[in-house]
Amino acid sequence: MDVEEFRKQGYAAVDAICDYYTTLQSRTVKPDVQPGYLIKALPTAAPTTGQPFSAIAADFQNHILPGLTHWQHGKFFAYFPACVTFESILGDMYSSSVTNPGFNWTCSPACTELEQVVLDWMVDILGLDKIFLTSSGKGGGIISGSASESALTAAIGARERALRVLTLQASNGALSLDDAIDVPDRLREESTPKLVMYGSTQTHSLGAKAAKILGLAFRALPVHASDNYALRGATLAAAVEEDIAAGLIPFFAIGTVGTTSTGAVDYIAEIGEVVRKHPTMFLHIDSAVGVGLCGYADGQWAGVAYALPETRTALRLAEVNEYADSFCTNMHKWGLVGFDCSLFYVRERRDLTEALDVTPAFLRTKEGDEGTVIDYRNWQLALGRRFRSIKLWFVLRSYGVEGLQKHLRTGIEHCKELEKLVTALPNFEIVAPPSLALLDFRLVPANSSHSEAELNALNRDLHARLVMHPDVHLTQTLLKSVESEIFCIRFAMGQNRTTLADVEQVWAIVEAEAARLLLKRKA
Ligand code: PLP
Repeated sequence: MDVEEFRKQGYAAVDAICDYYTTLQSRTVKPDVQPGYLIKALPTAAPTTGQPFSAIAADFQNHILPGLTHWQHGKFFAYFPACVTFESILGDMYSSSVTNPGFNWTCSPACTELEQVVLDWMVDILGLDKIFLTSSGKGGGIISGSASESALTAAIGARERALRVLTLQASNGALSLDDAIDVPDRLREESTPKLVMYGSTQTHSLGAKAAKILGLAFRALPVHASDNYALRGATLAAAVEEDIAAGLIPFFAIGTVGTTSTGAVDYIAEIGEVVRKHPTMFLHIDSAVGVGLCGYADGQWAGVAYALPETRTALRLAEVNEYADSFCTNMHKWGLVGFDCSLFYVRERRDLTEALDVTPAFLRTKEGDEGTVIDYRNWQLALGRRFRSIKLWFVLRSYGVEGLQKHLRTGIEHCKELEKLVTALPNFEIVAPPSLALLDFRLVPANSSHSEAELNALNRDLHARLVMHPDVHLTQTLLKSVESEIFCIRFAMGQNRTTLADVEQVWAIVEAEAARLLLKRKA
């Protein structure tokens, strides 16, 4: 394609994207296709000769769009909102137009420095401690592809730090953690298999997955429904002591601000105190859930919601600032930036570089050697990276802090309105205190007694019925605590195209299906 053809096809693509958005609300949220539909429709091999781009673009409309679930639809209430804005789309367009792998500052100085600037802006917007500013020279931030990648990277940094601490302890005070510490091979080999990671049964699967990748143990600690499914320090302390007594080495704890299932906020200060007592331990805060809880005294809200000063106490921001060794939140969920844009901050950048800086001759640069620039390859798993800061920059400048706050508050308002609808009905129960823009509910028929197992079966039936509706997309979850195991349905608001009418219309379908189900059970 030459530049003039690109101009023509580019304009046509923008027209097609605009048409998609102007007709989006008239589509159903879920596609009407069966598994294998696309595989059957497309040829089994790539064409031998090139095809005209207009035909390719037409096939996007004919084959791809019909198979899409419309995450940008106002009635999308499954998983989490994955809001994209036009500013973000344009950011991705500019970014891919200057594709470069940005691993060293010299690869494209603007690529590294814009990331530093916007990540420092975000420290300010979210109210994070200044130690997380890249300009602090000590901590700093990086944009990663996902919260899972951020947690894995944190665990790798924590593992190396634990081994350095063990080396230090073995040196009987001859070294300090600020020294360049070479971990002896023998200590590395003997200690690594003993390292243990901790989270709770409500921690996102990213914890268990990071442990699996690293070949280490992950303990999912129990939580209590009476603590709103949040992890307590005493539970962590007991597990850590038990493991130390068994000759193991605790090294990594994940505290969550806004768990996936209910938006619970772990007791960060309690957990942090346990971590502090054990020099081999590191605290990572995962605050990457797409939505949080609807505004209560102990309300739970996810990391992006720190942009709202009124949420910070409930979301234990001061505790995060005091105790977190690393912190992650996803702008690519509730934060108006298209996938992928996960913000990952560390209190001590050295925790990353000690674990990840591998510099063969061909990657060396004058500026890197002088230590006057950041080479992000030493802060992440891969070498190359995308120029993701552009879309964040575009969104922050175009919306301003006030625009972002307005968007977040709208999702919270919708959740409060939904809460009123649900509590007004005798047959429904709100399962955990609503959090920011997430409400967990279940059907509990009034004036009749049911065991938890029967209620779970009833709600599985309700969810199965809802799954059949092309315009209802709600995900289920199982809330496991010491006291119970509750199957419930999540209503995750916060999409930037959602109106209150969207919430009300989808809820009306839930209500009608529940009524039909109860009638059928009576018959
Ligand atoms: N952490 C929490 C608390 C989540 O709820 C989720 C996803 O829903 C994730 C992490 C996963 O994020 P990512 O897809 O960026 O790895």
